[in-house]
Amino acid sequence: MNRVMRKILFGLSSFVTDLLYRRPYFDAESSQRNKLEDEILHLDLVITECCSLKCRDCSNLMQYYKHPENISSDEVISDLKKLTDCVRIRELNVLGGEPFVNQKTLCDVLCFLARECADRVDAINIITNGTIVPGEACINAMKEDNRIRVTLSNYGPLSTRQDELIRSLSDNGIGYQIIDDSFYWLDFGRPVYYAESPEFKNRQYRNCYNRKNCNTLYRGGFYVCPRQAHGIHLGLIPDDRDEYVDLNDHGFKGSEELRRAVISVVRRREHISACGYCINGKYIHVPRAVQEDHSRSLDADI
Ligand code: SF4
Repeated sequence: MNRVMRKILFGLSSFVTDLLYRRPYFDAESSQRNKLEDEILHLDLVITECCSLKCRDCSNLMQYYKHPENISSDEVISDLKKLTDCVRIRELNVLGGEPFVNQKTLCDVLCFLARECADRVDAINIITNGTIVPGEACINAMKEDNRIRVTLSNYGPLSTRQDELIRSLSDNGIGYQIIDDSFYWLDFGRPVYYAESPEFKNRQYRNCYNRKNCNTLYRGGFYVCPRQAHGIHLGLIPDDRDEYVDLNDHGFKGSEELRRAVISVVRRREHISACGYCINGKYIHVPRAVQEDHSRSLDADI
């Protein structure tokens, strides 16, 4: 496609997408979210901090990990067990980083979900950047469970093994979809304090796609969004303990109390501290998946 055409489409796609999908106070699931007492609609499950790409503008802050690690099966399954003991999950998104980097944990988690969460999780979505084709054990675990679907974020030439991955999924009867992430991303900004007004932060929070669709389970915590989860873990965002649920907090007297705490995070109306370190509500566009050589540090950034 020539450059002029690309520019026009870039502008059009961002305008139309923002208008229809991100910009308005549009929250089709709001009444469901506020009605469901023991179910959550969407959950992001992080199984690794490692990624096969290093995107400069990753909104989840993965580019700031200097020593990213895979998360062990025991840790992820223990968290998932505590959470699914108190709430059902409609859609579970398994991601990283890149989830196929950590195939051992992925296989163990899928087996756990098949064995113990048949009626606690409705749909399982594995989100990949199309750079890794999983091995036989993983393919077998995926094809055993018809709740599983793979979502390929298509980053064009960066998704180096996408065709191979699609062939493997098709050959094994595993469902998949391709999301064409090819035009632009919203810029969430560096994780520094932006001193915006409370009105801006509340509006940004209420409109935020991640707040609605990406409540996150990560290293023992249930968070509003992945940026809050990783920002706190990286020490880049204040650790405000009443804004997320620590699943290992022994103060909880049983799963009923835990359920109430989780549902109150899902339904929270006021912005969280992390929103002060985020500018996705300014709708600034950046090209998608621009790669960096090294992990980021704020020192280098400023
Ligand atoms: S920090 Fe706030 S505005 Fe940013 S992604 Fe999370 S919930 Fe949304």
